[in-house]
Amino acid sequence: MILEDWHTHSSFCRHATGNLEQYVKAAIIKKLGVIGLSAHFPYDVLDGIENMPYHEYSMPKDELDSFVLNAINLREKYKNQVSVKIGFELDFVEKQVDKHHEYLERYSDQIDYIIGSIHNLETHFGLFAFDDFRFLKYYDKFEDTDEIYMNYFKTMQAMISSEQFHFTTIGHFDLPKKFKILPNNKELIMKEGIKALKMAKKRDVVIEINTSGLRKPIKEQYPSKEFIKEMFNLGIDVVLGSDAHHPNELAYEFELLTTLLKKIGYERLAHFDKGIISYIKI
Ligand SMILES: [Zn+2]
Ligand SMILES: [Zn+2]
Repeated sequence: MILEDWHTHSSFCRHATGNLEQYVKAAIIKKLGVIGLSAHFPYDVLDGIENMPYHEYSMPKDELDSFVLNAINLREKYKNQVSVKIGFELDFVEKQVDKHHEYLERYSDQIDYIIGSIHNLETHFGLFAFDDFRFLKYYDKFEDTDEIYMNYFKTMQAMISSEQFHFTTIGHFDLPKKFKILPNNKELIMKEGIKALKMAKKRDVVIEINTSGLRKPIKEQYPSKEFIKEMFNLGIDVVLGSDAHHPNELAYEFELLTTLLKKIGYERLAHFDKGIISYIKI
């Protein structure tokens, strides 16, 4: 079985190790069919980011050309060994959806897919980077963890229903569980998550099975098995993503997850070529 990894980060993203070519070479060694180069989209196009270490979250916008050109060159150089796909992991910040547009349009004929992700929540004290451990000290600004989860899934629903926000794939669907700070009212949060899944089906976007959660305190992929079962029942397609921040993490635990997906009933994975979806069998 030839597997595809649709979620990776490189030194362009500042907090990840390895240049793009090292990732492509690692993908060839691991015999992957696709290596998706999905840099975090630049944060310096957004407002209100002063209280977060945003220069550690992504490349600055003046490196976008260099990232895309570098990726195009690698796509050509290694085309007989692995299919290099070019994407971005794009943050959804509800009030600033339009901020990315002019840059994304510039590269639209080169981009294969976009992962829509939520790493920051709009709160009464500004943008809250809930998945950055340095922001754990702000968790007590909320009444309880349910408030964070509710804010997150409401934001997820807003992302999915935003006509202005263009994306193909939902990234790490239940990310707030990362540090194993779980909801009090699991049922309530599940319900809110399932509401987002139904919207995702309606919009016809795919959801990634992101294995980075297995390397985090929660020790579980995103989304949970319970959510994946709901996704299968709704007929939502999936892709695999390691969210590698080092070339060694490429295709992390993909065999384990492929086995789980098959057990749940999945027989295919999605694949993107310039935004057009097709499928591979598993
Ligand atoms: Zn990252
Ligand atoms: Zn992410």
